[in-house]
Amino acid sequence: MNLNRRDFLKFAGATTATAALTSLPIKAEATEHFTGHPDRKGILVDTSLCIGHNCRRCEFACAKENYLPTPDKPPEDASVFDQRRRTHPDQFTVINRFPGRSEDMPVYAKKQCMHCDEPACASACLVGAFKKTPEGAVTYDASVCIGCRYCMVACPFDIPTYEYNSALHPRVRKCTFCFETKLKEGKAPACVEACPREVMTFGKREDLIKVARQKIARNPDKYVDHIYGEHEVGGTSWMYLSPVPFDSIGMRTDLGTTPYPELTRNYLSAAPLVMAIWPSFFLTLYLFNKRKDQIAAEENGKHKEESA
Ligand code: SF4
Ligand code: SF4
Ligand code: SF4
Repeated sequence: MNLNRRDFLKFAGATTATAALTSLPIKAEATEHFTGHPDRKGILVDTSLCIGHNCRRCEFACAKENYLPTPDKPPEDASVFDQRRRTHPDQFTVINRFPGRSEDMPVYAKKQCMHCDEPACASACLVGAFKKTPEGAVTYDASVCIGCRYCMVACPFDIPTYEYNSALHPRVRKCTFCFETKLKEGKAPACVEACPREVMTFGKREDLIKVARQKIARNPDKYVDHIYGEHEVGGTSWMYLSPVPFDSIGMRTDLGTTPYPELTRNYLSAAPLVMAIWPSFFLTLYLFNKRKDQIAAEENGKHKEESA
């Protein structure tokens, strides 16, 4: 597997964090030994069915379900597709437009967290803020997050975003798979329910793979012969079908099938001692700076009280 600079940084982020774990008494919810929850759910996204323009109901439903601001531009405003959008703290899913087989047949693709089977974000997190649940979602616990943002560096799909504008308690933000309100009770997420075209199929991941294979077999001219997410980075809960090659709808096709946590583990076993020491050094530095800021804030508060 070739690693370019961007991959290396992601890989190094995960490595750094995991190496730190080897020398610190912090328990992380790393999933290197994930053996799979056989009944975990997934979503199959059939991009050939999405109409995008004049719809984006999935975006609006997601915002409502997760108490996020309503998306700025209304469904009829096609200018939203002029740029390739990525998710951000106020929007956990976006629809982007890509050239299709002909000019009048664009392909619209939904983007959100892929809910990886062996998530790099969980592996990179120093405090175990991310967990792969038996239901299939990768959840995030803001109450333990220290804001190091290794998860953002580690994610191969560029999904976690950070509330830089929040001065008090900034959180990492990403699609929740509607875990608390829907998935936990076996229900389909809000975006799936809102879609008028049944672009997304919710079900047991294993069954969805069968459905996807059948679709491809029955319509070989309609789909590229590949289920994106079946094997990428060790498999993801969200999977895709497409009428055009996946790299032309903004999906990375250079990720390989090895789970990122496994890459990290293999690398660490061959890494020189210095690689195990540096991360601890950076974490210590981080904690030291955090404590320094805290003391400065406390002293500042005292000064204000004394001079009042
Ligand atoms: S609601 Fe369905 S058809 Fe509409 S944009 Fe979203 S995925 Fe596409
Ligand atoms: S897509 Fe990124 S944020 Fe989502 S589970 Fe995978 S590694 Fe984590
Ligand atoms: S699963 Fe829930 S949080 Fe994720 S994109 Fe759909 S509606 Fe949004």
